[in-house]
Amino acid sequence: MTGHIFGRSTRISPPVAVAGEGCYLIDAGGKRYLDGSGGAAVSCLGHSNQRLRQALHAQLDRLAYAHTGFFTSEPAETLADRLIAKAPEGLERVYLVSGGSEAVEAAIKLARQYFVEIGQSQRHRVIARRQSYHGNTLGALAAGGNEWRRVQFGPLLVETSHIAPCYEYRDRQEGESLEAYGRRVADELETELQRLGPDSVMAFICEPVVGATSGAVPAVPGYLRRIREICDRHGVLLIFDEVMCGMGRTGHLFACDEDRVAPDMLTIAKGLGAGYQPIGALLVSGAIYDAIAQGSGFFQHGHTYMGHPMAAAAANAVLSEIEERDLLAAVRRQGELLDRSLRERLGQHPHVGDIRGRGLFRGVELVEDRGTKRPFDPALRLHARIKALAFDAGLICYPMGGTIDGRLGDHVLLAPPFIISDAEIAELVDKLAGAIDGAIA
Ligand code: PMP
Repeated sequence: MTGHIFGRSTRISPPVAVAGEGCYLIDAGGKRYLDGSGGAAVSCLGHSNQRLRQALHAQLDRLAYAHTGFFTSEPAETLADRLIAKAPEGLERVYLVSGGSEAVEAAIKLARQYFVEIGQSQRHRVIARRQSYHGNTLGALAAGGNEWRRVQFGPLLVETSHIAPCYEYRDRQEGESLEAYGRRVADELETELQRLGPDSVMAFICEPVVGATSGAVPAVPGYLRRIREICDRHGVLLIFDEVMCGMGRTGHLFACDEDRVAPDMLTIAKGLGAGYQPIGALLVSGAIYDAIAQGSGFFQHGHTYMGHPMAAAAANAVLSEIEERDLLAAVRRQGELLDRSLRERLGQHPHVGDIRGRGLFRGVELVEDRGTKRPFDPALRLHARIKALAFDAGLICYPMGGTIDGRLGDHVLLAPPFIISDAEIAELVDKLAGAIDGAIA
């Protein structure tokens, strides 16, 4: 290896991955790693899935690429039909892109164009939540709720303000019911709208289950419904970012299905291509699409690889695997086993404050003191030590740390393939517990 590639870190040279097999990745030295996070919640079918390989070979033999400025293609049309057939109510159109940030970027631009076309061009602001991640391109970055990611790139192009996330473990008060907590935290959106002037806001964006930045934190019951009501009251578009939590990860095809709340736009990516192809999608309400169709008739946006036939073929095969192997049921079943196993092994651990999540999307939050929920000193970089020790032991997991609001500590996100077996879950929990103990010792 020449070392000419650079990624995030200029200091680390990672091992060379050469093969994948089921829930494992294998490096050039033959070492096997259990993929406990599906990379970054991507590899939902595991590695080297036969249907995916066959579908991609077959598509490659027929047609690899046709620019959407001239053509549509059978796999792209089929994919859009299949997504809409299962989509939350009101979502009727699909805009295909190449990844999560592109999907979020498209959502923000479409929201803006929609309001310009319907004569409400004063609506330009976005409201999002702290401790959220929506991508790294400039618009998506503006929406993201991590100040430290944004600060060096400001001023950002989309004026965004951030309200509190729905984060029961840290914010629900003594004696407060889940419902009352959900209402109280959702009402921060109303307060923020009043502060900004509701007519200046075009959209509110959130992840129904927060992924990377907080470690699989689901909204409490009733929260998303209340958010929906507030958006409706003020004519603000609701965008659910399901790039990480969507595509079956929570045991429902779309995470918001469990909450029975439908957004105006919904983004998916990661599990949509399952790592076999880069692909993302923006699902859009009929009302937004129709307004553009009856107005300019042209969304002023686009990418070279949108609707890519190979990517769409991969996504169609992913949907077929989920449907024909009943993988949503598997996610619910194995997700419960993972949750139980984590609680048995780590539930009484003096430094595990919270275990949470839905389906095969689980988070473990580490605290220095369980009583006060005080996080570890960020200078210890506990999450990075857990990641390194787990990796040495042959486990890929997704730890993150931060001091957002001065409170959020270290956590580990788990998002294994939907095909994970009981024995692999036992291995995952065992290696994770060992890495946590090793890192804290
Ligand atoms: N939104 C969410 C919720 C994500 O988790 C991510 C990726 N971690 C993105 C957007 C951005 O996706 P991508 O990295 O594919 O651009």
